[in-house]
Amino acid sequence: MIDSHCHLADEAFAGDLDPVIDRAQEAGLTEALCILAAGDEAEAVRALRVREKWASVRFAAGVHPHSAGTFQGRPSDSADTTRAHAGKMAACAVGEIGLDYHYDFAPRKVQQDVFAAQVALAVELGLPVIIHTREATDDTFAILREAGAGAVRGVFHCFTGDADMARRALDIDFHLSFAGILTFPKASDLRDAARVVPEDRLLIETDSPYLAPVPHRGKRNEPAFVARVLDVLAETRGADRRSLDRSIADNFARLFGPNHAARMA
Ligand SMILES: [Zn+2]
Repeated sequence: MIDSHCHLADEAFAGDLDPVIDRAQEAGLTEALCILAAGDEAEAVRALRVREKWASVRFAAGVHPHSAGTFQGRPSDSADTTRAHAGKMAACAVGEIGLDYHYDFAPRKVQQDVFAAQVALAVELGLPVIIHTREATDDTFAILREAGAGAVRGVFHCFTGDADMARRALDIDFHLSFAGILTFPKASDLRDAARVVPEDRLLIETDSPYLAPVPHRGKRNEPAFVARVLDVLAETRGADRRSLDRSIADNFARLFGPNHAARMA
């Protein structure tokens, strides 16, 4: 099992990282993709501890739309910051990046410029992107089309759209990653979306420490809980849990490339 999106280097795990990773491995996780904020040096130090404890963990780095304001008027600096961070951590993806018009922590134009610069960097580096998008669907697709020049690959992380948006993402060859929201009783539109995604485009994640699935809702989330997402996804699709798990692992390897540390382990 693979958690394709977690923030294991977040401060929330600083006090008990070892048992959190132990529980993930006991739950059957072989890999996790740890998302880092480009330029956050304190988090980068904690990321080294994550890697020490769990050699097969992989990293992604990018400028989150919430932080885009830092690069107002100089979006190309955001690409330089991500380039340096991604290089240092041997990142297998650029992310999470995107647009968030729900919180609007940075002006929309600034978010768009920074997002476009991050996508262009991913194309230049030949890396996939991890997309965070909220209430910004049309602009997100427009920037992926323009800055990505049809060459960008990636995943919509913590997908919360409906079946129609799922089809739009599939049309540009993207993957969709489902998180704990899939387990929420009211998320029936999301479960409908999860049914239309072909098995070879699915990923699962926790987005921990955020968004704990039922029955852990309201508590700190952690990678071990991705098992709940897999349970509900299999149930929703009427799929065999083990073969779905295998497909998701194949999808992960295809999108992010081979994991040399996991092979040595
Ligand atoms: Zn995240």
